[in-house]
Amino acid sequence: MFVGVGAARVRDLFEQAKAQAPCIVFIDELDAIGRQRGVHIGAVNDEREQTLNQLLVEMDGFEANNGIIILSATNRPDVLDRALLRPGRFDRQVVVDAPDLEGRLAVLKVHCRQKPLAQEVDLRRIAQSTPGFSGADLANGTNEAALLAARRGAKEIAQIDLENAIEKVVAGPERKSRRLNDEERKRVAYHETGHALVAAYSKIADPVHKISIVPRGRAALGYTMQLPVDDQFLSTRSNLIDRLQGLLGGRAAEEVVYHEVSTGAQNDLERATALARQMVCLYGMSDRVGLAQCGQPQNAMYIPSADGSFQRDCSEQTAREVDEEVKRLLTEAYASAKSILGTHSDQLEQVATELIKRETLDGSAFYQLLGLPMPKGSVGEPPPIPPVLGS
Ligand code: ZN
Repeated sequence: MFVGVGAARVRDLFEQAKAQAPCIVFIDELDAIGRQRGVHIGAVNDEREQTLNQLLVEMDGFEANNGIIILSATNRPDVLDRALLRPGRFDRQVVVDAPDLEGRLAVLKVHCRQKPLAQEVDLRRIAQSTPGFSGADLANGTNEAALLAARRGAKEIAQIDLENAIEKVVAGPERKSRRLNDEERKRVAYHETGHALVAAYSKIADPVHKISIVPRGRAALGYTMQLPVDDQFLSTRSNLIDRLQGLLGGRAAEEVVYHEVSTGAQNDLERATALARQMVCLYGMSDRVGLAQCGQPQNAMYIPSADGSFQRDCSEQTAREVDEEVKRLLTEAYASAKSILGTHSDQLEQVATELIKRETLDGSAFYQLLGLPMPKGSVGEPPPIPPVLGS
């Protein structure tokens, strides 16, 4: 409303900082004021640009030794004004990626400090089962666990609360209102069992952690959770082929059992297609298309875009070849998924029946049904629910 107030505040901030020196000035969500100038129109932007200009001026006015360090954080480094990143301003960038196993363990410890944990709680196991989680996701998970414990009437957070909370963060809350009829439930059970079986009989797929046919917010009608044994930073071609196969396992199971497919595989197909396209265009994993990269990541600055999408960057001719290669990869993966399920059709039947009865199967129950040992290093069965206190 009052143009110039932002700039005045920035001036004021730096005056205070100089008075307090030595000190650290921390600006969170820098992109709120540091967006590239001149790309939008309107009074709001005038105001923001003035604020940004003032910030730039103040940062230039620093003597090397006046004892003020400016730190700021953003998750949109790509939209920042270039001038902010010049030498002498924000010239050192530290990319804070999603935490690794040890990092997650440390973050969990911080967020559990004020919460009463049961003795049996094994935070390392929670850290193991949350690859890709950000600090905020983990905080969310621990809060959710506290709520679940309170709802049970317990005085302490148990391991099972944490595990359920993580599941809720991953797949959304259970949808009790979404009632599937028996026929649909059966189909979903075969579908999910298909994913799990293909993963279990693939050479290097991640171990199955949980299969469920309880409808949840984000995960539509059911889901199969696979967890890597370790944090993975590199995937080999065989890894990715196995993952493709696993993604298509659901649809393959429907076809093997019903000789007809349903709409339930839409999300699987979307993910499998995206993965196959990445293999061909970005990782040079197709002999026919070769090593030349034919895509540009959408968001090249520091953070890869979450959905792995990218822009095509090749001739029409190559684009056609890419399409054919993607199709070939998917067809081959689908065929081998189907052949795995054909070979183990009795187990498909057996696990699906069990799944319909119990709604969820955890990894150890699943491997036990198959008569296979638990894959080494996988996250085992959660401890039993402790007795409820005071109710
Ligand atoms: Zn599926």
